Amino acid sequence: VAKQRGANSYAFYTQDMTEQARLRLTLETDLHEAIQRGQLRVHYQLQKAFDSGRWVSVEALVRWQHPVRGLIAPGEFLAVARQTGLIADIDEYVLEEACRQLRSWRDAGYDVSSVAVNMSGFWMERGDIVGRVQQALERHALPPECLELEVTEDEMMHFGEKGVALLDRLAALGVGLAIDDFGTGHSSLLRLKRMPVNKLKIDRGFVVDLPCSDSDSAMARAIIALGKSLHLRVIAEGVETAAQETLLRDLGCDLGQGYLYNRPMPATELESMLDRVQS
Ligand code: C2E
Ligand code: MG
Ligand code: MG
Ligand code: MG
Repeated sequence: VAKQRGANSYAFYTQDMTEQARLRLTLETDLHEAIQRGQLRVHYQLQKAFDSGRWVSVEALVRWQHPVRGLIAPGEFLAVARQTGLIADIDEYVLEEACRQLRSWRDAGYDVSSVAVNMSGFWMERGDIVGRVQQALERHALPPECLELEVTEDEMMHFGEKGVALLDRLAALGVGLAIDDFGTGHSSLLRLKRMPVNKLKIDRGFVVDLPCSDSDSAMARAIIALGKSLHLRVIAEGVETAAQETLLRDLGCDLGQGYLYNRPMPATELESMLDRVQS
């Protein structure tokens, strides 16, 4: 009986695996089409400057408006996008769309000074990134300081010297550079010192249990101190409560981003929000 059950569960197991592989393949083909058929969406999340209390910038975050499954978050399709290299196309789409949107906000008189775009290692490996970024800015008549590129700590370290050289050229162009999810990766402090970045983003993992967790408070304090000593601006992601904001501000953090202010939302919704506050 046991043997039989074993055989059966094996059958279930393989059936399950096939189902998973099938789903992955569908996702992969669908994603190819999604890019071509314009099913990608960009949502925006505000970044608040603690000193002025003003919303100074936004981060652009990709979404997939799937014809059957509805709106899909990046956590569900970026892994496949990475495995297939499609992520580079996604990044480029988001860059273009974010620049177009910022231009349109500026023309309409909205007070949004810059937009942050996530940059994958795949995209960084594409040729002539600096040229592509420059062209996107020119196409929408935006000065380089309007754009900030975010790279995760791990991807930044993964690229080594090649990455430093690329970031140097992007910095020379005048765009801002931020290290995303800081504290979760494997930074070499030596290399960090030589990175031409101007911002650290404290990972949400260190913010979620503030202000109660002593160890997380200590981590946040240490990251902020590190950032300050390197003359970097420090932003906390995942700010959900006023108590978190107060503590972070007291620790010297410069900016905050999180559900306390807004969930990532379509441009039109963000406009309604800004209409209420900026008028
Ligand atoms: P990220 O760049 O670290 O972006 C922050 C993520 O945290 C976003 O998730 C955002 O919705 C979420 N978040 C912000 N505030 C809060 C909060 O207060 N509470 C909680 N629980 N979550 C919060 P999202 O939009 O699902 O994106 C996940 C990740 O996918 C991003 O993390 C980024 O690494 C990646 N991603 C998103 N768009 C792009 C893109 O266009 N290109 C690339 N390469 N990666 C992207
Ligand atoms: Mg980011
Ligand atoms: Mg992040
Ligand atoms: Mg994060």
